[in-house]
Amino acid sequence: MQHLVIIGSGPAGLTAALYAARANLSPLLIEGWQSGGQLTTTTEVENFPGFSKGIMGPELMKEMRAQAERFGTKFLTGDVSAVDLKGKPFRLTIDGEQLVETAALIIATGASPIRLGLPNEARLTGHGVSTCATCDGYFFRGKELIVVGGGDSAVEEAIFLTKFARLVTLVHRRDKLRASKIMQDRAMKNEKIAFAWNSVVDNILGQDVVTGVRLKNIVTGASTDLPCDGVFVAIGHRPNTPLFAGQLDLDSEGYIRTFQGTATSVAGVFAAGDVQDKEYRQAVTAAGSGCMAAIDAERFLESVHHSV
Ligand code: NAP
Repeated sequence: MQHLVIIGSGPAGLTAALYAARANLSPLLIEGWQSGGQLTTTTEVENFPGFSKGIMGPELMKEMRAQAERFGTKFLTGDVSAVDLKGKPFRLTIDGEQLVETAALIIATGASPIRLGLPNEARLTGHGVSTCATCDGYFFRGKELIVVGGGDSAVEEAIFLTKFARLVTLVHRRDKLRASKIMQDRAMKNEKIAFAWNSVVDNILGQDVVTGVRLKNIVTGASTDLPCDGVFVAIGHRPNTPLFAGQLDLDSEGYIRTFQGTATSVAGVFAAGDVQDKEYRQAVTAAGSGCMAAIDAERFLESVHHSV
């Protein structure tokens, strides 16, 4: 029986662990098989306070994990396959077999990239289709690529990919970007980035590897084939909440609803980071809400006279 279990090893989960460990709650953090969250698939993080020269995403997560461990966080590697939040203690099943019981729970399971949903997309994933420029950009030296999306992720990926690719075409369904001004300016100034405005990818072409995309202009209805070697999809994220459906209040997009800080619809269960935030979604806001969740969990355990 644990005092506090934290699910998720991104900035929210690791900050919650740091605060809970320093409050002597001996937290158990369950890190999935792909530990570290979304920052492990990013390049340089320039906007995490305290790093004036920037820090690489994976390095930042390594430091956060070490800091949480230093104060006594225990780690368990595995995927939570089921949760039972109906009674107390809460019960979690790890990888279909190991049972963990806990008096309080912090959910920091983050969000995952959304796919286009095209028939060839899954088949060609790993053969030219990717959702992670940092992971796969290196394989496209001197190639022509497209990036789909108009937000900060798409622009960041496009800029990163110009380090390797000969040309990156950003395909966006509207005539202006959603990305922040500074990112837009960088993309516009980059000679290796071209734009296909008002366009959607109708089909990904290629048998064994990507050879191109069929673009549809949504204003004129015209279709054109654009040859390319890779397709990077960067159209946003979906919260990792299917495990909790039917047990916690979720909003229409599946994000966990939080009230008064990080409390959820079940007393003793708290949520932090991207799993409950579709507005800010920054590493620093995720970390901040992880800190809040640890404090909320500590107060909850005190309020139910749980002795640690
Ligand atoms: P986002 O802001 O939600 O942008 C998603 C983009 O994909 C939008 O341009 C959207 O088009 C487009 N899109 C969505 N569904 C589509 C579909 N089915 N087909 C084609 N296009 C589609 O997501 P994000 O870029 O991942 O950013 C999420 C959050 O993280 C934002 O708050 C962002 O500021 C933050 N972020 C920050 C940084 C940074 O500061 N360095 C880096 C990455 C992300 P519409 O514009 O038409 O809706």
